[in-house]
Amino acid sequence: MKVLVTGGAGYIGSHTVRALKQAGFTPVVLDSLVYGHRDFVDPASLVVGDLQDRPFLDQLFQQHQFVGVVHFAAFTYVGESVQQPLKYYRNNVASTLNLIEAMTQAGVGNIIFSSTCATYGEPQFLPLTEDHPQNPINPYGMGKLMVERILQDTQRAMGLQYIALRYFNAAGADPAGGIGEDHNPETHLIPLVLDVALGRRPHITVFGTDYPTPDGTCVRDYIHVNDLAQAHVLGLQYLLAGGKSLCLNLGNGNGFSVQEVITTTEAVTGRKIPVEFGTRRAGDPAVLVGSSERIRSLLKWSPEYDALEVIIQTAWTWHQARFS
Ligand code: UDP
Repeated sequence: MKVLVTGGAGYIGSHTVRALKQAGFTPVVLDSLVYGHRDFVDPASLVVGDLQDRPFLDQLFQQHQFVGVVHFAAFTYVGESVQQPLKYYRNNVASTLNLIEAMTQAGVGNIIFSSTCATYGEPQFLPLTEDHPQNPINPYGMGKLMVERILQDTQRAMGLQYIALRYFNAAGADPAGGIGEDHNPETHLIPLVLDVALGRRPHITVFGTDYPTPDGTCVRDYIHVNDLAQAHVLGLQYLLAGGKSLCLNLGNGNGFSVQEVITTTEAVTGRKIPVEFGTRRAGDPAVLVGSSERIRSLLKWSPEYDALEVIIQTAWTWHQARFS
C-alpha cells in the first residue's frame, strides 16, 4: 500500500515515514529538499521535486498507485510569513491546490493534512477545542486555514476524504536515532535551549516574563514527534476503513511554561542554562493548550511520550549526536 508523503524529509515527515513503514505501508517521499534533509530518508524511497510542478506531479501519480497522501510540505516560519506573505501563500496554499488537483485527477481519495493550532489565533477559551473560532493572526496560520477550507469544499464536491491535524508544539526525536529536529535557522524553544546546553549558544532569551501564567512565561502544549507521527498512521487507517473527514487537534493536552522547559532541560542534561529575560515576541498568546479529546475518542490515539522530561531527553540524545 503506497502512500505519498510530501515533505517526508523534514522533521515530522521523516518520523511519520518510519511510523508508516512500521504499520506496513510503503511510503514514497516527495521533498524539494529546500528545508528537508536527504539523510533523513531512505534514498530508494526519495523523489526530489516541487509541488509547484504540476506535470511532474501528474507523472508521479501515474507512476505509482497511491492509497493516500500525507501532506507535510510547507514553509513553517511564522515571522517570515508576516514579512513575506506571498511566498507563504504560494508555497503552502497554491502548491497544495496543485497537489489536490493532481490527486483528484488520479483518483486518489484520501489525504492527511498538516494543519496547525495557529489557525485558531488568540484563544477565547482554553483548552482549545476543534470548535473554537478560527481567526489566524499571521499568514502562516491563514494559509493553513485556507487549505482546510479547500479540503472541505473538495470533500463536498468530489468526495475527497481528509483529516486535518491541527498540531500544537512538536518536540523530541525518535529514540531509535538518526532523525530529529534540525532547522536552519532554528527558532524553536527546545532545540535552542539544547544548543545552549551544548555550548553552541551563550544563553536562551525568554520572550516575556509578564504573562498571566503561574510563572509569567508562555505556556505551550509540547507533543512528542513520534506521537504526532502515530496520529497520521491512525488517520490514514481510519480513512482507508471508510471513515469520514475530520479536523482534529493534535496535542498533549498538557501545558508547560518556557521556564519549566528550561528547568527540565537543566535536570535532563545536568548543565546550567544561562537565561536572559527579554521582552514579549509579537504574536505570542500567553497560553496555547489543546483539548485532545476528539482524536483520543475517534482515532483511539493516545500519547506514549507525554512527560516533558522524556520529550526533552529524546531531543537531547538526538541533539548531541547531530551537533556536538
Ligand atoms: N520562546 C522563547 N525564547 C526563544 C524561543 C521561543 O522564550 O528563543 C518561547 C516563545 O515565546 C513561545 C515558546 O517559547 O512561548 C515556544 O516557542 P516556539 O517558537 O518553540 O513555538 P511556537 O509556540 O511559536 O510555535
